[in-house]
Amino acid sequence: MDLTSHLTSSALALTAALALVGSTGCTSTCTYVVPAASPPAAKPLVAAAAQQGPAPTPAPTPAPHVPLPGLPTPPGAANVPRPSGAPGNLEVLDWAGFKSAVSYTFDDGQPSQIEHYAELQATGVRLTFFVNSASVTWETDFVSTFSQAVRDGHEIGNHTAHHCHADPDGTLHGTDPRTACPGASAGAELDDCTAFIKSTLGASQVWTAASPFGDRGFDAAVGERFFLNRSATGGTVAPNDDTDPFHLPMWGPAANDTVEKFNAAVDRSRTAGRWVIMLLHSIAPTTSPWYATVDISAITGSIAHAKSLADVWIDSMANVGAYWRGQKMLASVTPTTSGNPQTSTWTWTLPAHFPSGKHLRVKVDGGTLSQRGRALDWDSHGYYEITLDAGSLTLSP
Ligand SMILES: [Zn+2]
Repeated sequence: MDLTSHLTSSALALTAALALVGSTGCTSTCTYVVPAASPPAAKPLVAAAAQQGPAPTPAPTPAPHVPLPGLPTPPGAANVPRPSGAPGNLEVLDWAGFKSAVSYTFDDGQPSQIEHYAELQATGVRLTFFVNSASVTWETDFVSTFSQAVRDGHEIGNHTAHHCHADPDGTLHGTDPRTACPGASAGAELDDCTAFIKSTLGASQVWTAASPFGDRGFDAAVGERFFLNRSATGGTVAPNDDTDPFHLPMWGPAANDTVEKFNAAVDRSRTAGRWVIMLLHSIAPTTSPWYATVDISAITGSIAHAKSLADVWIDSMANVGAYWRGQKMLASVTPTTSGNPQTSTWTWTLPAHFPSGKHLRVKVDGGTLSQRGRALDWDSHGYYEITLDAGSLTLSP
């Protein structure tokens, strides 16, 4: 993609955004305050039910469901016998047993994404929305839409409060000609946005970020707060490669690209066995075509295409990225051995700010795999599923 035009167009969009912010009473020197808002309905209901026991009020059921948390069922028949050879050759399946992976990420919490949320939700796949918290002061239906996205199981990631630039040394500024950024620092920009996502949108945690404009100046502050950050640089990710987890590459369409372009990006990453992170901005039809506007049919059609391939893992950036980083982490561990016949034990510490409750799928030639003193079950799709929270794994004869 043409980075210059990206920056220029994004700058124009930001200028328009800030102009709107100004029109609602916020000046370039104002301090962003998380507004008082009603908490999302789902959480209090669950909490009340847990405390009171009987007769909980059922929460409204969104339809269709996005998948439950956890890894999806991989392709292929469930007829793989448990390996019965000699213990050894621990191997992590790439992409949870799928051929490739794709994440659909949407930046800026744009009005056109709010307008098309129902169609995105109807795809039934888990999406990632990188929002700017300060947009709540002037965007219509911002809180209602993205708190619904939280309840629907989508990931809300951090795109900072005000979408400022950050120089390589972390100095913040607005668009050219340089204007002041309302935020105090890169860290404060990220922390304000995280506070908003948790307290106002109702997310339990924020795991990932995307740097505005892909500016490298956010990377250091992001690394102190999250386990992944997406850039605006083109590219894809391979299992066990040396991609910077705080500058993940992306594929983004040009304005008016149709489904064929999207499908080609999915197909290329599938052929190569890689993870493609789609970076999407404005969705047509809309009266707010901020940047790289594509028709909703290109996005939903691409998701339908990826689903039809059956061996493409479609999931949020946090979920696919946790698998990718978890696989790399385990590959870096040298097991300790003891006894004859030999028992091997892998012990690890998860990367900083890594989500809890994540898993890897592994194979061995034979033997018994255990965690926390319990033998793991063999899944007849062809793997054992290990929990990364356990911190260790044992292979015994
Ligand atoms: Zn952005």
